[in-house]
Amino acid sequence: MILVLLGPPGSGKGTQAKKLVTERGWPQLSTGDMLRTAIGKGTALGLEAKSYMDRGALVPDSVVIGLIGERTSQPDCRSGFILDGFPRTIPQAEALDQMLLGRGGQVEKAVLFEIDDSELVSRLSGRRTCTKCGAMYHIQSAPPKKAGICDSCGSSLIQRDDDQVDVIAKRLVVYHQQTAPLAEFYRKQGKLTSLDASLPANDVSQALSRAISG
Ligand code: AMP
Repeated sequence: MILVLLGPPGSGKGTQAKKLVTERGWPQLSTGDMLRTAIGKGTALGLEAKSYMDRGALVPDSVVIGLIGERTSQPDCRSGFILDGFPRTIPQAEALDQMLLGRGGQVEKAVLFEIDDSELVSRLSGRRTCTKCGAMYHIQSAPPKKAGICDSCGSSLIQRDDDQVDVIAKRLVVYHQQTAPLAEFYRKQGKLTSLDASLPANDVSQALSRAISG
């Protein structure tokens, strides 16, 4: 299945995508993770992307469309994949449809994670991520056993530069302006299901399973 997870930053798409990887075996394709890897490696693409990401803006469509085109042609994507954070604009969604059409495939479902902005600010500003394994914590609601250290692999936890309050506000504006219209794009195609992303993670998982199976 080719599944698109739609929703604002901090709505839990990444957490739920990781669960689906374990349960269903489809790879999680996160353009945010791909860009952060490029930044970590210091590539030209990473340097270019960083200037946009640090101020909460979107990286140009051509960059992320290229990344997804390359990644989805790899063998582990043959039986499906989960798109987490892509598409984020209408031109990205159109490019995705064209690309999949050329390969005889299509997006089967798009699931919209619905949640208020006020909750996102506290979720994102308290978020801490493991530098090595990518595990995610929250300083209040899901703290690690030892402050600043990952429970799973013992590496250090960081706060993403773009999880600072001023950048979060910008990312939410960008979401409402450029990404939210994708709900209508997929609704018109008869592929959209919505879920309440403010619920506890296990309830969201169940709602997501129902959305995928329905
Ligand atoms: P994320 O980890 O998905 O929250 O993405 C972090 C940042 O990476 C975003 O704020 C954007 O600057 C950039 N980014 C990730 N995915 C995309 C995309 N599909 N289109 C444009 N920019 C993206």
